[in-house]
Amino acid sequence: MPRSLRSACPAGVMAPSGASRATDRWSPPWHNPPYPTPPPPRPATHVVVHVTQETFPDAMKIFQNPRSKVSAHYMVASADGYIGQFVREKDIAWHAGNWDYNTRSIGIEHEGWTDRPEYFTDALYRSSARLTAAICARYGIPRTRAHVIGHHEVPGATHTDPGRYWDWTRYMELVADG
Ligand SMILES: [Zn+2]
Repeated sequence: MPRSLRSACPAGVMAPSGASRATDRWSPPWHNPPYPTPPPPRPATHVVVHVTQETFPDAMKIFQNPRSKVSAHYMVASADGYIGQFVREKDIAWHAGNWDYNTRSIGIEHEGWTDRPEYFTDALYRSSARLTAAICARYGIPRTRAHVIGHHEVPGATHTDPGRYWDWTRYMELVADG
């Protein structure tokens, strides 16, 4: 990964030899609601919550550049909760920095910075929680903190997102309502 991207989240992880990398990325992203509800394309056991450390447009450019080797299934915009999809759920996104978790999780990026809580708007929380609730329903993932985790909770994670300002209590209440 280029040095300039090392601080970008999500962390990429090199695929084991022979594994294919998800290359299905596109724009513009579709909008919500309602979310499409295709049958679960692959087993998923976790939803991983990230914060981009970039603006939405800058993170989108990073995801769309194969050389950056990072991607996420979804990204939620701070101002209005707009949701972009960048990797199909049936494909593996490079977001967790852990190949095992990448293969069985859905990654959601949130526009903002871990030390700038003003980016974690009501619109962002509500939109993301609806998305996570829909993903949990689709895959049968329990709506608990054991299964809806932060990037920092991925084993071996070197990233700290979503950080101490992310309101997990509020988020999980919204996920439960979703
Ligand atoms: Zn992350």
